Amino acid sequence: MNEEKHPSVIISGLGISGLITASLLCKEKIKVECFEPINISKFRADQRTTAFLNPAIGVFKEIGIWDKIEPFSQPLKEMEIIDASSQKKVGLASVVFEPKEVNIENFGYNVPNSILRLELLGWLKKNKNFVLNIRDSIVKHYAFDDSIFVRTAKGKELNGKLLISCEGKESAIRKREEINTIKTSYSQLAMVFQVAHSKKHKDRTTEILDVGGPFTIIPLRDSSKQSKSTVVWMDNSDVIDEAYSLENAEFNSIISKKSLGVRGNIKLVGKRQKWPVSSQLSKTLISKRTVLIAESAHVMPPTGAQGLNTSIEDIIALHNLCKKALKNNEDIGANRVLRQYNFKRFPLTGSKVFGIHLLNKISMTENGFLKIARKNFLLYLNQSPFLKKTLIKAGLGK
Ligand SMILES: Cc1cc2nc3c(=O)[nH]c(=O)nc-3n(C[C@H](O)[C@H](O)[C@H](O)COP(=O)(O)OP(=O)(O)OC[C@H]3O[C@@H](n4cnc5c(N)ncnc54)[C@H](O)[C@@H]3O)c2cc1C
Repeated sequence: MNEEKHPSVIISGLGISGLITASLLCKEKIKVECFEPINISKFRADQRTTAFLNPAIGVFKEIGIWDKIEPFSQPLKEMEIIDASSQKKVGLASVVFEPKEVNIENFGYNVPNSILRLELLGWLKKNKNFVLNIRDSIVKHYAFDDSIFVRTAKGKELNGKLLISCEGKESAIRKREEINTIKTSYSQLAMVFQVAHSKKHKDRTTEILDVGGPFTIIPLRDSSKQSKSTVVWMDNSDVIDEAYSLENAEFNSIISKKSLGVRGNIKLVGKRQKWPVSSQLSKTLISKRTVLIAESAHVMPPTGAQGLNTSIEDIIALHNLCKKALKNNEDIGANRVLRQYNFKRFPLTGSKVFGIHLLNKISMTENGFLKIARKNFLLYLNQSPFLKKTLIKAGLGK
């Protein structure tokens, strides 16, 4: 194989995980050729913001884009959980987690997805190791002992050392490799929108546990006098579908009730978007010269903001293994390297998917006994600094 003519790594899918993976590998002077079937300008439509934990911020600093993203990013200093589901009968229970409880300045930052994608793509386009193919996708791949061959829908053919699937939950590579998944669907949707509110958010995220799922208000960085936040409202699909189609005035009245007045008067700014909610775990993360990362490998509900943060852990692990292999003059797509990746990441992603599944079930429960247990647990947390600390560390993946 002519190494000059062929990329070392082929990435399929340029969502946020694909972009970050490509950036870190290009930084190692690895040639990376990427395929994305969708017109990349559509990425601007993603209204979501991502609560990134500190390891992700470290990655943005390492790539060298944090200075550009930081002005749009909101530090996440406090996390409040309120149990609202039984308020009429027994009153509210709440707990506030603070970063100083585990000796850190903040839990992370809330970053707009559209800004992050734009900066990552801008950075990559300036890197000579990066080759971008948009509106094209890999339709066939075949792994040899020393390389992997791919063919695209537009008829392009190339070889690389390693194929990385960042294609999201419906990964075509995973399906062609006949790698099964364990999947759970919830009768839930997540609606995402931005709100302006009369009370300052004071860097606080508030998750209100209610029937059907949590209503989470995540602070946004805003230069205007008005305080703004992103809301992720998870609820039964029919409730979300109905709320999605309401006129603004009626919608504002519902979200005012849902938010329990914690941010004062609250009103919708901009559009609403709906996202499906599911859990999925791939039964393995690798096959010959192929790695599944991010949502190709694991999907979890937005509860706990762990999805993309877990993907960043995947990317850091893969990046470290590639760096080590390059240093030792090893083949980055060799079975030995990929087996190490699977060994390291599979148990961790499995337990994360299962943990978030349980958390989501508890947050959406309509079972009276579980609701009382949940409320008592929150009350107990206020009296147990050790348990609080342990939970914060678990949430931060420590
Ligand atoms: C409402 C909501 C809020 C969330 N909030 C948070 C949060 O605060 N913190 C957090 O950590 N996570 C959060 N998540 C999870 C996070 O958004 C996802 O984990 C993340 O977007 C998945 O990124 P990805 O790159 O793996 O997949 P995707 O974003 O799905 O990207 C996959 C890419 O692959 C492309 N593709 C698809 N098929 C092919 C193919 N055959 N060939 C080539 N390319 C293909 C697609 O066009 C797409 O561009 C949230 C999720 C939701 C729904």
